[in-house]
Amino acid sequence: MEKKPPFPYQKQKQLSEYSTFGIGGPARYFAEAREVEQMCEMLAYANQASIPIHILGKGSNSLFDDRGFNGLVILNRIDFLSQEENVFTVGSGYSFARLGGVTARGGWSGLEFASGIPATVGGAIYMNAGANGKETADVLAKVGFVTEKGDLIEFEKCALEFGYRSSSFQKKRGAIVEAVFHLIPSDRARTEQKEILGYRLKTQPYGEKSAGCAFRNPEGESAGHLIDEGGLKGIQVGGAAISKTHANFIVNTGGAKTADVLELITEIKETIYREKGILLEEEIRCIPYDL
Ligand SMILES: Cc1cc2nc3c(=O)[nH]c(=O)nc-3n(C[C@H](O)[C@H](O)[C@H](O)COP(=O)(O)OP(=O)(O)OC[C@H]3O[C@@H](n4cnc5c(N)ncnc54)[C@H](O)[C@@H]3O)c2cc1C
Repeated sequence: MEKKPPFPYQKQKQLSEYSTFGIGGPARYFAEAREVEQMCEMLAYANQASIPIHILGKGSNSLFDDRGFNGLVILNRIDFLSQEENVFTVGSGYSFARLGGVTARGGWSGLEFASGIPATVGGAIYMNAGANGKETADVLAKVGFVTEKGDLIEFEKCALEFGYRSSSFQKKRGAIVEAVFHLIPSDRARTEQKEILGYRLKTQPYGEKSAGCAFRNPEGESAGHLIDEGGLKGIQVGGAAISKTHANFIVNTGGAKTADVLELITEIKETIYREKGILLEEEIRCIPYDL
């Protein structure tokens, strides 16, 4: 018989409550890590018990399965922040948007673009989140990581690889728990951060349920522009629709199922491939029920 988790946990917690899409069934086990030591304990337990894990940030890039997740979902709530001159050390569960605001208000440049990205710092590093020509990795110096066996290790940035919405962490099993950023003093940081946020609010479907951009931009192209040109803006499958505000956003108009989103994704990919010869690649991460 499976050994029960030795830490507080809940059963059958609905993942739709923890995804900005508002989609997803129940997690077999659901636990919150507020300290690095708790993350170590949870990962070590899952490893010994051979239970699949999913590290959950703000679920702002995640499409969960309607059946949920057949394993342990660890909600990352490690959210401290400390500063020494231009060096910011931050827990990976800290809000990435808040970090962008706090640092810009303090006159530090490098994370202005984070403002309005509804992520955790850990999720932003994992995805190498970016906007306005900047990416998370640009100002990252170090990452604290808990391995799948529950050991805490540290990576200098030079030991890691980052690309467009990709990072070495997408090939590792474990959890990012801490990050160190080196920022640059700037009188323009706050103004720039406010401009970026203002532009976002005008051009993206904030207030609607989505997981951000559905597709990566192909080299030299904009996925949103291609979808718009393909005449697909506004089309709907079940409760999932292409946003009328930004064609690269799929929104849950109410009661959308995972299958609705996946069908819409397929329809978009087939249309763009047929009309433009370009195969779009998903940016949204689909989290399967069984790993
Ligand atoms: C309105 C809106 C606007 C957005 N705008 C942007 C944008 O401008 N630029 C951009 O790049 N993205 C954007 N996104 C997408 C999303 O916010 C980013 O991809 C973000 O990095 C996801 O962070 P998260 O904490 O929500 O991760 P989640 O969705 O919770 O997780 C995403 C993946 O990262 C893994 N992960 C999360 N935390 C950890 C951790 N601590 N350790 C190991 N693995 C982890 C998860 O297991 C999962 O595989 C937007 C989304 C929305 C809804």
